Amino acid sequence: MTIKEPQKIPDIIKTFTELPINTLMKKNLSDANFITPTPIQAEALKPALAGRDILGTAQTGTGKTLAFIIPILERLMNSREKGIGALILAPTRELAMQIIEELRTTGKGTGITATLAVGGLSEGKQIDSIRRGAKIIIATPGRLDDFVKRGLADLSSVKILVLDEADRMVDMGFLPQMRNIMNRVPQERQTMCFSATLDRAVAHLVHEYLKNPVRVEIGSIIKPAESVTLRIYEMAREQKFSLLMHLLGKEAGTFLVFTRTKYGADKLFKKLEQRGIDVGVLHGGKSQPQRIRALEGFKAGKHRVLVATDIAARGIHVQGIAHVLNYDMPNAAEDFIHRAGRTGRVEEEGVATTFVMPEETMEIQGIERVLGKRIERLALPAGLVAEPRSLHDEAFDMRSRRRTSFSAPRRFGHKRRR
Ligand code: ADP
Ligand code: MG
Repeated sequence: MTIKEPQKIPDIIKTFTELPINTLMKKNLSDANFITPTPIQAEALKPALAGRDILGTAQTGTGKTLAFIIPILERLMNSREKGIGALILAPTRELAMQIIEELRTTGKGTGITATLAVGGLSEGKQIDSIRRGAKIIIATPGRLDDFVKRGLADLSSVKILVLDEADRMVDMGFLPQMRNIMNRVPQERQTMCFSATLDRAVAHLVHEYLKNPVRVEIGSIIKPAESVTLRIYEMAREQKFSLLMHLLGKEAGTFLVFTRTKYGADKLFKKLEQRGIDVGVLHGGKSQPQRIRALEGFKAGKHRVLVATDIAARGIHVQGIAHVLNYDMPNAAEDFIHRAGRTGRVEEEGVATTFVMPEETMEIQGIERVLGKRIERLALPAGLVAEPRSLHDEAFDMRSRRRTSFSAPRRFGHKRRR
C-alpha cells in the first residue's frame, strides 16, 4: 500500500496583489500594468521581502529589476533611518538609468528619493542629491568608488546592497572598485546578486559577500528567450546593406541593428539616413546627451531603427523591439545572447537575424554549439543588389581585424556543411 504524501505547495506567488507589501506600491504596480510576476520575480520576491540574501541567475529580459526594487522600496518605506539605505551597483549608465526609471514608477508617491552616481553625467547634480539625503543610490562602480574616496558618499547606513549583472561588472574590470565599495558597506545587511553566469570570479564574490543566499535560477543561462526566433542569412559583405533595406521594406516594427565598431555604426547610420529611414545611432564615442537622445528617440517611436554597438546596447530595455539584426557578427556567443535578448522580452515575440559572411561560418557554428541548436538559414531574396566595395571599406577591413573567441582555424571562402 502506498500512502500519498501531501503535496508541497511551492512558496511562489501568482499575482503581485498576494505580496506582503504596501498598498501604494501594489497600486503603482497595477497602474504600470505589472500584474503577473515573471518566474524570477515569483521565486525571489518572498524570500527577498523576508530579508534573505538572493543569488539570482537568469537571462536578460526576465524581469530581474522588479525582483530587487520591490523589496528595497518596501524596506525603506518602513524605516525612518537617515542616510543611504540601499545601494544598487550596475555595469553601465544606461542600465542604471533604466533602473531609476523603474524605481520612479514603482515608488511613485512613496517619498523615497533615489539618485544616480554614474560616469558621463554631471557629477554636481549627483553629489547634490546625495547631500540632500537620497535614500537609494544606483551607481556604476567607477563613479561611486570615486565619490567614496573623496568623502562624498557615506555608505555606513546601507541596509540593502544589489549587484546587478555582476558578471558583466567583473568582465568590465570593475572588481577592485566593487570590492572597495562593498568593504564600506556594513556587514549586517541584505545582499542580492544577479548574474547571467556564475563563472569563477562571480562565484568567488558570492562566496565572500553573500550569506546563505536563496538560489533562484530561471531557465538555461545560455539561451535567448524561447519567444525569440533566430534566423541567419549567408551573404557577401556587399549584399548586407541591400538586404537590410529589403527587410525594412518587408517586415513591420522596429529594428535594433548591431555593428561591430563605432565607425561602422556611424557609416551605416549615414547610409540609412540618406535613404530616408528614421534612424538613431548609439555607441561609446557619443556624448551622454547624444546617447540619451538616440535612445529616447527610439523608445518614443521617432526612430524606427537604432544602430548600436555592443557596449552601448548593454541594458537597453525598450518595450516591443520587433527585430534585432546582427549586421556584423557578434564577437562571442555571450554577446549574441545579449543582443538577441533585446527582443522577445517578457511574452513578446521577436526575431533576431544574423548576417553571416562566408569567412564567418566557423564562428556562427561555434555560437550554435553554445546555444545547442542550429539556426535556420533563410534564402536570400531574388535580385539582391551587391553594393560596390569602396576603397574606404577595404581600409576599414584592414583596421578592424576582429578578435575571435573561437580558436578553430578559419577557412576563408570555404563553406562547410555540418
Ligand atoms: P532583466 O533585468 O532581467 O533583463 P528587466 O527587469 O529589465 O529584465 O525587465 C525586462 C522588461 O520586462 C522591462 O521592460 C520590464 O518593465 C518588463 N517587466 C518586468 N516585470 C514584468 C512583469 N511582471 N509583467 C510585465 N512586464 C514586466
Ligand atoms: Mg536587468
